[in-house]
Amino acid sequence: MRPKLVVGNWKMNGSRAGNATLVAGLLAGLDGANASCAVCVPAPYLPQCEQLLAGTPVAWGAQDVSQHASGAYTGEVSAAMLADFSCRYVIVGHSERRAYHGESSELVAHKAKAALEAGLTPIVCVGETLDQREAGQTASVVGSQLAAVLELLDDAQVEKIVVAYEPVWAIGTGRNATPEMAQEVHAQLRMQLKERSVQAGASVAILYGGSMKPDNAKELMAQPDIDGGLVGGAALKAADFLAILHAA
Ligand code: 13P
Repeated sequence: MRPKLVVGNWKMNGSRAGNATLVAGLLAGLDGANASCAVCVPAPYLPQCEQLLAGTPVAWGAQDVSQHASGAYTGEVSAAMLADFSCRYVIVGHSERRAYHGESSELVAHKAKAALEAGLTPIVCVGETLDQREAGQTASVVGSQLAAVLELLDDAQVEKIVVAYEPVWAIGTGRNATPEMAQEVHAQLRMQLKERSVQAGASVAILYGGSMKPDNAKELMAQPDIDGGLVGGAALKAADFLAILHAA
């Protein structure tokens, strides 16, 4: 059995005061959790989270990273900078970045590679839109999103990634994929990883994201190929995030 992992994606939410309250709430309720846990926070709050979370069981990370190492890329944040604040994770290819910032699967692959080269674990997001699902394209869309990453990385790097399946129509809508729908896609992604590297197929965590809540988390994470969650809205309330963590 792969260990479970629950990651909170705070998206563009938070404040110094609010983060301190949220983190204190999280730390107070971790006892007895069976899953690892992390929060991916807005970049300006990384030093605050490092200070609040160092030495605790909660890891931290960012929500995006540049594909470049350094230089004249105004507004970008490099993987080395994230590592400088002891990030363990960075989300790459979130559907909001693909949709609002035009990120291609090739760019996402380069971001994953930059993260790995700095010693970070990229959480590679894939997922189909509602139109794509209704047109029967789910398998081909998520398959090609993952393929771009697998193409660029070597086997040892592939074995270190985390994948997150986030159906776009389920994000922030309150409409989660059923456990069966999610499991079907997760099984496909796992097969694709396995075809590339047997080790990766066995060990890479595949998280589900999209309206994961305390009342659906247990059933989702009970599926054989769902190794945890990437949680948006419910990660902003300590009680909800903890309930999901304890459901794992
Ligand atoms: P919600 O949990 O708010 O649907 O967001 C999911 C997500 O996008 C996590 O990355």
